[in-house]
Amino acid sequence: MEIGREILWNAGSWGRYITYLFMVITFVCLFLGLKKRYAMWKIGQSVPFDFKSLLWQRIGYFIKSGIFHKTILRKGEGFPGWMHFFIFWGFLILAIGTALVALQDDFTRLVFGWEYLKGDFYLGFSFFLDLAGLFAIIGILMAMWRRYVTRPQRIDDNKPDDLICLVWILAVLVTGFLVEGGRIAATKPDYEVWSFVGWYAAALYSGLDQAGIEMAHRVLWYFHMIISFGLIVYIAYSRLLHIITSSLNMMFRGVEDSPRGAIAAIPDFENAEEFGVNAIEGFSWRQIFDLDACTRCGRCQDRCPAHATEKPLSPKKLIQDLKGEWERAAAGVKNEEGIIDNVIGEETLWSCTACLSCQVNCPVSIPTFDKNIEMRRYLTMTLSKVSSEMKLLYKNLQTRFDPYGMGKSQRLEWTEGLDIKKATDEEVEYLYWVGCVASLDDRNRKIARAFSTVLQKAGVSFGVLGPEEKCCGDPLRRTGNEYQYYELAEGNVELLKELGIKKIITACPHCYNTLKNDYAQLGGNFEVYHHTEFMAKLAREGKIKISPTVEGVTTYHDPCYLGRVNRIFDDPRDVVNRVKKGSFVELPRSFDEGFCCGGGGGRIWMEEHHLRINHNRMDEMIAAKANTVVTACPYCLIMMEDAIKDKEKSETMKALDISEIVAKSI
Ligand code: SF4
Ligand code: SF4
Repeated sequence: MEIGREILWNAGSWGRYITYLFMVITFVCLFLGLKKRYAMWKIGQSVPFDFKSLLWQRIGYFIKSGIFHKTILRKGEGFPGWMHFFIFWGFLILAIGTALVALQDDFTRLVFGWEYLKGDFYLGFSFFLDLAGLFAIIGILMAMWRRYVTRPQRIDDNKPDDLICLVWILAVLVTGFLVEGGRIAATKPDYEVWSFVGWYAAALYSGLDQAGIEMAHRVLWYFHMIISFGLIVYIAYSRLLHIITSSLNMMFRGVEDSPRGAIAAIPDFENAEEFGVNAIEGFSWRQIFDLDACTRCGRCQDRCPAHATEKPLSPKKLIQDLKGEWERAAAGVKNEEGIIDNVIGEETLWSCTACLSCQVNCPVSIPTFDKNIEMRRYLTMTLSKVSSEMKLLYKNLQTRFDPYGMGKSQRLEWTEGLDIKKATDEEVEYLYWVGCVASLDDRNRKIARAFSTVLQKAGVSFGVLGPEEKCCGDPLRRTGNEYQYYELAEGNVELLKELGIKKIITACPHCYNTLKNDYAQLGGNFEVYHHTEFMAKLAREGKIKISPTVEGVTTYHDPCYLGRVNRIFDDPRDVVNRVKKGSFVELPRSFDEGFCCGGGGGRIWMEEHHLRINHNRMDEMIAAKANTVVTACPYCLIMMEDAIKDKEKSETMKALDISEIVAKSI
């Protein structure tokens, strides 16, 4: 007996034609569903997007992150990651197997008389298909267990569609094995032991005679065929659509076509009559597509500092609420009231620290802050509706060019006793962009002094702008005041160009990000270094010799705009490793998962309600038994010092900027 099997065995003489008919109906329904969805995506504003640019990177990213699950199997995501892996790969292998069956039966057999599903290949094929089906069932059971039994906090919005999808997929898999079992029970070839799940399923037919087995098999075969095609149709009308949208979004967003830290400029800003977005149609089609790519996995919510401290913001909910609004709008429901305060609350919008943890940790790279900033722009510029503290911030920046309202006369006070050159008076290789906080905040002035000392000891040619330095504009831009940002930033770019500045060093990650990523939109293309990068370079080149001086347990807090946003993780750690004398402990939430201090997105200039983000971070540092918290951002330093005081840990803990330690260690 030749090893193999008869395709469409027991399906009846019409089986083949009925299958074709269902296949055609399936793909027509699927096409119509996708066509409707496509029209829905297009209610967004058209924006240029060159998919072909970076095409190979996009495909490579999808293969790595989508097919091989790199982003889905991230650290700490073992259970949901493997759950998805089993379902995805189980189905992928089953789909390939089904395609091979169809290819043989409808093409190679008919055209060339060639059948490859026989002999040893057939045995291996049968084994792997059963294994794939088994793993897919395990994956589905894991998903059910998680969604309906253990119910982690981030899975807080079960919908009927979730259950329908899981049960439907399970039914397809189980009936597939029952059909296989029926065929094996009826035909009884010994080699079918390789179809090991079907082999055991055959035992379920033991009470039936041959005719009964064949009848049961035929009924199940048709049932399995219909629900399998039905499941394919259901993709276009259910959460299963993420198979398509999430995959595409990985390619659209996973490979970033603009710097991660830059905020998109307002097109035709000077002639625009309204700024920001308060109607769903105001978002771009790419932003709308993001909404449809969201799988409601909740990873963003788990890593959101605002959500962790009980603010009324969950990035997942924000995306889902906007998605609901989009679906209503696409169905013709008019929202005359607008999104803000009706779909998304103002406090929700202002709770965001712009830390980008949601976006970077989203398995399908969905940005949240890009939507938030559009609504902040609407509030700030179109409605002029901001809190009194924001009004004061804007006034200070308008009249004194710094958030404190202290003015330019005090910008050089930190230099007292130091011989610091002015880049406005003489030519220097590097401009040290001090930033408002290190120029004007008493505690942070120590950073400016320490870093200047390091530069001087290394013999670096540098100077500062002093009174000519103005805020970089980050607090304006990230709170939605694009108009004022634009004025300030344009002036800064002009001045830097006039002075012939090519290389800039700064100790503030927010200034770093703005100078490097935002200013490029205004024609300001400078070589920008963060002081951690620069000090690591000086140490590696032997221009500074760092001795280990820091006793006890040292830890490092990744500033969001240095680490996650601009991917500078290793240089600060290199420097910390050189200065530590005792031990170093990595915090559980570090690198891309670093937890925000609470100061970004303009939040440092606003009152914080609910629990405090810096307290949450400090609890982690206390648990790590850290004595010295090293950071590399003026905002983070303020937040960490406040938290140490609030937690009454001043006797055993201190927070320092990395430059302060280096200055003492050389
Ligand atoms: S950017 Fe940060 S604070 Fe804002 S929603 Fe995302 S994770 Fe939350
Ligand atoms: S935005 Fe991303 S991380 Fe958040 S729920 Fe959606 S898919 Fe998951």
